[in-house]
Amino acid sequence: MTRTLLRCYDCNRLLPLGAHNRAPDWRRGPGGCGYLEIPRDDEERFRRIHADHRLGECRVVEGTIVGEGSAADPMRVTYFEAMAGRETIVVRRVRTRLDRPVIYEVLPGRLVIRPVALEVQSRDLRRQLEFELGEKLAADTISSFVGAVEEVAERLDPDDLDEVGSDARDARLAYVRLGENHLAEILDRLRNDVPAESLQWLHRFMAENLEANDVMNLVLRKTFFVEKGGSPLY
Ligand SMILES: [Zn+2]
Repeated sequence: MTRTLLRCYDCNRLLPLGAHNRAPDWRRGPGGCGYLEIPRDDEERFRRIHADHRLGECRVVEGTIVGEGSAADPMRVTYFEAMAGRETIVVRRVRTRLDRPVIYEVLPGRLVIRPVALEVQSRDLRRQLEFELGEKLAADTISSFVGAVEEVAERLDPDDLDEVGSDARDARLAYVRLGENHLAEILDRLRNDVPAESLQWLHRFMAENLEANDVMNLVLRKTFFVEKGGSPLY
């Protein structure tokens, strides 16, 4: 995604800057033979349309892009924050029709993103354990381990955990990593019932499954809304 946008203050429109603005369009040639290259320069066009207007650049704030539904949906509406000088603005990216270009517009207010649920990837965690350590661990041990992860995760505050990955299909999902102290606590809960050798295998398994959407990371579900003067706009 482009980091910088050109903003027209008079029309409330934005254009993401970058080489993609000069990517040519292609059309079928006469009689359906071959393709014709149609040159395009959206930045030049934007500057021409807004020639006498007040223009300025703003920058996308990393990690604030949110939207509902699948990223593969071309009609999906997304929102993000951008910095225009010292002012933070909310940008809505929307396509009104499939055959029309995407529109970027400024909304008054600020983007509020809140955590709503923190979940263990229990099914995938169990499956990965069985795949990697199924021959080394007793079935009971695998169940106890998944249970211990769930118990520890249950009372955690999402704000205390590091976000380590996002979900390309749904911007309201993120992956967060358990801290060293949480991993130690999970093993402590098993110490009385599980052989020391199994604990070592589990210790290694945890350390090797902590990147991005790996099974030891938790799924954080978020909700978002645009807030203006303390009340949600929608
Ligand atoms: Zn304008």
